[in-house]
Amino acid sequence: MQERTRFAPSPTGMLHIGGARTALWAYLLAKQTDGTFVLRIEDTDQARSVEGGIENIVDTLDRLGIHPDEGVLRVDGQLTDVGPYGPYQQSKRLGVYTKFAQQLLQQKDAYYCFCSRERLDEVRKAQQARKEQPKYDRHCLTLTDAEVEERLKASEPHVVRMKVPEGKSTVSDLIRGDVTFDHKEVDDQVILKSDGFPTYHLAVVVDDHHMNITTVIRGEEWLPSTPKHQILYKMLGWEEPTFAHVPLLLNADKSKLSKRQGDVAAEAYLEKGYLPDALVNFIATLGYNPTGDRELYSRQELIELFNLNKVKKSGAVVNFEKLDWMNKQYLQAATPEALTTILTSQGVEPTQTAVRLAQVEASRATTTIGLAERVTQFTTLPDYDKALLVWKKADAHDARNMLLAARDYVAAHPQVDDLAAWETSMKEWIQEQGIGTGNILWPMRIALAGQKVSPSPFELVWALGAEEAQKRITHAIALLEG
Ligand code: GLU
Repeated sequence: MQERTRFAPSPTGMLHIGGARTALWAYLLAKQTDGTFVLRIEDTDQARSVEGGIENIVDTLDRLGIHPDEGVLRVDGQLTDVGPYGPYQQSKRLGVYTKFAQQLLQQKDAYYCFCSRERLDEVRKAQQARKEQPKYDRHCLTLTDAEVEERLKASEPHVVRMKVPEGKSTVSDLIRGDVTFDHKEVDDQVILKSDGFPTYHLAVVVDDHHMNITTVIRGEEWLPSTPKHQILYKMLGWEEPTFAHVPLLLNADKSKLSKRQGDVAAEAYLEKGYLPDALVNFIATLGYNPTGDRELYSRQELIELFNLNKVKKSGAVVNFEKLDWMNKQYLQAATPEALTTILTSQGVEPTQTAVRLAQVEASRATTTIGLAERVTQFTTLPDYDKALLVWKKADAHDARNMLLAARDYVAAHPQVDDLAAWETSMKEWIQEQGIGTGNILWPMRIALAGQKVSPSPFELVWALGAEEAQKRITHAIALLEG
């Protein structure tokens, strides 16, 4: 079956790692089945919406390469509704929800409620004092049609509530199995607020139905709301989608992953220099592993292997050290083309030297920022103290002679593109000459890098090119002679 899945965030802040995982899993399922991944913005709670929230969601998903087929997308820089079921932003669909709220009122599956906040607070406090689960006490259910009419005419503030019938609902969850709820525990949920906006519960049901969503993937905090949604589907005569409630993400101490314990915004990790592919691999495998025998999966493998039945029921601890490890693996595996893109994204001109330095340094860096810093340490020669050129077992005179010999060797062997071959032949030559390895390689390293910690002199010659290498060695000789 071609799945239609959706990610339906509320724009209440930056896209979290947890939200990114929900989006990613919905995306993987859609792609696996040649289906459609929809991005719908749930902004009916206007008070909680933040400026720039929608942009952050749209752009972060884009940077992660989690591209929606339908929904709110950026087209020519503008946020645009793309697809046949739009608008995909709930605040632009208010008429649709009012229509179904009216239908439910007519069917007597919903009723008007005029209770004030003060009254509701009192009812709740009394219930809590009696150790009962707080629930609306159906005070307004007994109003006659005439009374309701009159109060509506007088423009009394009101909401619309669903009338939860007696009975039970079972959520057949793809991750959690069957979960049954007795309707005694289900509140007469407000479906239309006093400002005329729907609540999440009405809007999510109406939209998932109208957008033909086949599988709803969302955080487990929504599981207790699902019976309300199932009741609404029944009342409206609609078939319900399949549900999958994904487990929470946890800090190492098993508390809910929160801002207080470091960054949880997905964008922050992109900014810190984690590669989108590594981040996607990391996020996709939080609380889930496709095969159980390894950690690294390409996007294509993630799509092909994705299986919600394998998601662990318990919360997943997020271990950012693993992200470091993964990012290192991706950096090491990066092709020269990929390194070119990485350097460019970090503002480093991707010359042949820079890309080769990146190839050499990739195994030592954790992030793209760190890699770029390492590369720029060697693209230009820093000022350095000439005393550094003198190896501990030698003197300045020897250093100068060795550098002269090294320069001659490079001048005579300027074909350095095959690093391994060049390294082997220079090493052979060093042996033939009976030169101590440290005597020549130490001053050469300092001359080429201007510092003690660097790639090997062979790698430096390969990256810098024969010409630049000779120039740097000449500079070192001049320093020793000066
Ligand atoms: N708007 C809800 C949220 O922000 C979406 C829940 C759902 O996917 O149904 O989490």
